[in-house]
Amino acid sequence: MAISLKTENEQIILDLVRSGRRPHTVIIEGDSKDERDSAALLLAASAVCTAEDKPCLQCNQCKKVLDRQHPDLLIPQPSKKLKSGIISLGELREDFLSQASIKPNEADTKIYLFTDADRLLREDSQNTLLKLIEEPPQNILFIFTVEKAKALLPTVRSRAHIITLSRSGRVDEQAEDTAQAIADGLVSLYEYDLLATLSGLSKKDETESALTAFAEKLRLALSYQSGVTVDDAYAIKLSRRLGRAQIIALIETTLDTIAKLKTNVNLQLLNTQLCARYRRIAWQK
Ligand SMILES: [Zn+2]
Repeated sequence: MAISLKTENEQIILDLVRSGRRPHTVIIEGDSKDERDSAALLLAASAVCTAEDKPCLQCNQCKKVLDRQHPDLLIPQPSKKLKSGIISLGELREDFLSQASIKPNEADTKIYLFTDADRLLREDSQNTLLKLIEEPPQNILFIFTVEKAKALLPTVRSRAHIITLSRSGRVDEQAEDTAQAIADGLVSLYEYDLLATLSGLSKKDETESALTAFAEKLRLALSYQSGVTVDDAYAIKLSRRLGRAQIIALIETTLDTIAKLKTNVNLQLLNTQLCARYRRIAWQK
């Protein structure tokens, strides 16, 4: 399998690898399964890679990890007998944990990868693993992937290095929808549309994603005006309704608001002010 990670998530993993700290237990949390799985394989590859600059994703060791075929990469699977994606404690012990103290075959490190660990591992399994995590055999790496780390036992969490991946495309889609609604609101004849969209934003991170997506549309609108081919109907719509100076002012206002979101500001008030500022810019002749 190829690794397809958003750049910022790739960077999070590489930062950990290159920091030289080698936690033996890592929890990777994030709302996209693809991103979690890719991040886990990238981390696993870095533990077995033979190149100077790890992980190279080219050497034999890396390739085997990416194909999930490395003899030192153990990926416990849900039991065929039990329902709902669980592995039984017996299977976990016999098929996997019994090998924990045996030396790795090819690499220096033996890796246990528990994907969707909250579903795979019941409490009894997590408690059994806890003993290994507390006093890990040498050269072992435990990786748990999970949507929210909170779904694992606090005792497991407290002994792990937790990596939180950035938001997935699902949330970005939401941001994109809101950015489109803001664009529509700005070019709408009805004042209320824009206010309705902005005051509907009830969380700071949601607002930040939406405004970041909207700022991108404004930048594309500027590019379109300069003759660059742009594949975004909303950016084109904005570029046709607004002058260059207006678009630049809108970008500045948007970035200024994003910066304020990081302060201890009242979100409703901020969004109401933003609406007024947008209107002043967009409707001036
Ligand atoms: Zn490599």
